[in-house]
Amino acid sequence: MTEVLTVTGIGVCGGRAVGRAHRAGPAVAEPDVRPDAVPADDRPAEAARAEAALVAVAEGYESLAATAPAEVAEVITADAMMARDPVLAGGARDGVLSRGLSAEAAVWTAAGELRERLRGLGGYLAERAADLDDVRVRAVCHLRGEPATRARPADGPHILVADDLSPADTAALDLSQVSAFVTERGGPTSHTAILARMLGIPAVVACPGAADIEAGRLIAVHGDTGLVDLRPPADEPVTVPRPRSAEPLSWAGELADGTPVGLLANVEGEPSAVASAGAGGVGLLRTELLFLDRPTAPTRDEQAEVYRRLFRHFPGRRVVVRTWDAGADKPLAFLGFPDEPNPALGVRGYRATPVGSAALDTQLDAIASAAADTDAEVWVMAPMVSTPVEAAEFAAAVRRRGLSPGVMIEVPAAALAADRILAEVDFVSIGTNDLAQYTFAADRLATALAALHDPWQPPLLRLIEMVGAAGAAAGKPVGVCGEAAGDPKLAPVLIGLGVSSLSAAPIALPALATALTGLTLADCRAQARAALGSPS
Ligand code: PEP
Ligand code: MG
Repeated sequence: MTEVLTVTGIGVCGGRAVGRAHRAGPAVAEPDVRPDAVPADDRPAEAARAEAALVAVAEGYESLAATAPAEVAEVITADAMMARDPVLAGGARDGVLSRGLSAEAAVWTAAGELRERLRGLGGYLAERAADLDDVRVRAVCHLRGEPATRARPADGPHILVADDLSPADTAALDLSQVSAFVTERGGPTSHTAILARMLGIPAVVACPGAADIEAGRLIAVHGDTGLVDLRPPADEPVTVPRPRSAEPLSWAGELADGTPVGLLANVEGEPSAVASAGAGGVGLLRTELLFLDRPTAPTRDEQAEVYRRLFRHFPGRRVVVRTWDAGADKPLAFLGFPDEPNPALGVRGYRATPVGSAALDTQLDAIASAAADTDAEVWVMAPMVSTPVEAAEFAAAVRRRGLSPGVMIEVPAAALAADRILAEVDFVSIGTNDLAQYTFAADRLATALAALHDPWQPPLLRLIEMVGAAGAAAGKPVGVCGEAAGDPKLAPVLIGLGVSSLSAAPIALPALATALTGLTLADCRAQARAALGSPS
């Protein structure tokens, strides 16, 4: 069989990184450790299976070590020695022969017991105890005929390789150690892509073959072309993750003819320097991402503290706070979502936390309290609103708290009713990621449908034009805060369609300013007409 040297997906955040692949994936299901699961006659063969699995794991480590740079090879070789440890093999054999455990259960238990003993010894051996988790996971995967989806704990800079990463998965990761992402699934507007752009690290999504990249392999990721090199030169220096620093943003807030255009930042945590120094403010604060890892609902005071800290970066500037957008690929544990056959079309966004729900009431109170304590100009919008009635209910709840209400336009029904919705609220913001998903009936996580999420698709542009026209008629702002807003070539088109502000990952803002500099509204309209007139 010829060796695969490269795999290719969609590059969603530029740049290049070289590092060890670290697999993130579903945790391996723990084996059933019931005694007497194996009849006495079958135990010798089952014990042999357990021992053979440990040998296979050791061999796997040894082949990884063969191509690794010296310092990494040393660590992997130590793991191979652990997998070959006679105490471990003896413990596993004994578990099968005398307790009747299955091979999986016997390896699992023996490695767990050995790990505890090493921990008790302290020092270097205790530090290596965690590596036994990797050994036992690999052994169990081998026995089950599954790929080793989880590998050695990431103990240094690495390239995260995953089937897909939901924001909930990433909440558990130490992202400061991640120098690039590669995912098998996802698309340009999946949350993995959004996260990568936020962090400004190279990323390739929708990459068939990513699932076969072994943990520990040295790979190079080219975020611009979508190429993943599985055999970079062995002397290639490993990239240490460091947030890419964007150029400073210089934007006067208007086109060459004086038409005001806001360039705002999408924020989901501590704002970067570009966001807090150069941007006109925040066009989308994804609040759900601030509390994803919370098992219980954050209280009003806890939330207010977090919002206050963020608002303080933007005195005198706009901060558009989005209320909980939970559900589908962003389940918030503390909201307890039901199992739905089709969650993207189910109870998500505003539908999950409508006016009157305790979760929304508490959040609005917290936002109002933080806004009152700072000088930021706080606007509040709801995600996934579908009807003018929902918009009216939400607007009333926000106005009662002295804040300015808006809604996101993410559902075609809302775009079609934009004039009526704008009669209820002070502004709208178009979420092109979801609007494309629902306009084309194409799941934004579906790799095969990525072309339908291309924001240049004329039907999507027509919907944006409708919303832009409704905004102009009402004299109210229309923003775009989906990933489309970060495309510098599309920026003049969006402005020409009637959009008044673009909100994107901070790293994308300087290029947007460059793209718009020198253009007038008439130039932008001409570009919009050309794009709308294109058949595809
Ligand atoms: C969108 O749908 O375009 C959007 C900005 O919201 P999210 O990506 O968080 O769903
Ligand atoms: Mg959305």
